[in-house]
Amino acid sequence: MSDVYVHRLRLLRARLAAKSIGALLITHLPNIFYLSGFSGDSGALLVDESRVALLTDGRFTVQARQELRIGARLVISRGPLVKSVGEWLRRKRVTVGFEASQVTVAQMKALRRATGPSTRWVPLTAMVEGLRAIKDADEIDRMRRAARLASSTLAEVLPLLKPGVREFEIAAEIEYRMRGNGAEGPSFKTIVAFGARAALPHARPTAKKLRKNELVVLDLGAILAGYCSDLTRTVYVGKASSRIRNWYEAVRQAQGAAIAATRSGALAGDIDGAARRVLAGMGLGKYFIHSTGHGLGLEIHEDPRLARGQKQLLQAGNVVTIEPGVYVQGVGGIRIEDDVAVHADRVEVLTVAPRDFLEL
Ligand code: ZN
Ligand code: ZN
Repeated sequence: MSDVYVHRLRLLRARLAAKSIGALLITHLPNIFYLSGFSGDSGALLVDESRVALLTDGRFTVQARQELRIGARLVISRGPLVKSVGEWLRRKRVTVGFEASQVTVAQMKALRRATGPSTRWVPLTAMVEGLRAIKDADEIDRMRRAARLASSTLAEVLPLLKPGVREFEIAAEIEYRMRGNGAEGPSFKTIVAFGARAALPHARPTAKKLRKNELVVLDLGAILAGYCSDLTRTVYVGKASSRIRNWYEAVRQAQGAAIAATRSGALAGDIDGAARRVLAGMGLGKYFIHSTGHGLGLEIHEDPRLARGQKQLLQAGNVVTIEPGVYVQGVGGIRIEDDVAVHADRVEVLTVAPRDFLEL
């Protein structure tokens, strides 16, 4: 049993004990991976004060034996997983927590039926996610490598931005090259937006061709060793007007202010406020239509969220994106996004792509 996993299990059990929860059913796959090392795409993990069981099916017997990093009992279920969960829990009367954001109403009904009336089910939120928000040195190292991979892939594709190229061609190049550079996959659907389409923060790549004198927003991320990166750069193909240059400078300053506000002990809402204040000061506040950033790790969106009014305090081990933007309908959009690791006494920007305004 590896120390990291023993530690995670100990923290989780302390959280369960504090809520007087006898056992926890974990069905969210990233949480199962985090606690046990098992990366299969079907399974359930049951944790109580003394036991851990991984329930999965016959397709994953070999994989589970190879990957399990904790002294878990491996239960290969022949029928529906829910039935095996019921059998495992039926032996004693307990209060069982489940992940409220993961279990459907139909699954809950089936679970109640499988365990019978002696089990009391309690919906819980962020039991494992709360642990995952604090990364250890090894996790931050993986994220550093994922961030560098995204950064170097971005540098590779910038020369491909020539008039006539289509959004989906650039998206395909990014994803192909990330894989070639060692990524397990993209951490989300790559965003490529040219011209007025850049005003859509989550633009899906289309057949639109790049023309001269257009903004280009590229938002990409790689998964490496299980962990995500997330990087956005905006460039201009042609010669930008002073209005576009001013907007870019404003976003860059807003991002700088938010990164400067990021530290252990900072209020998440204040980091968002730092970016928002800069853009408002330049008359661009109404064009900043999303929050400043989000945590990331095994998943692309995790805690903490850097949004208006968020009361959470940042802690050493948090890794967050800082990604202010301005979006002007009919004209285009500008976003600059980097990944920032919070250490006890400093922050570290993990993504390494230059942020200077680039005209291609
Ligand atoms: Zn992004
Ligand atoms: Zn992001």
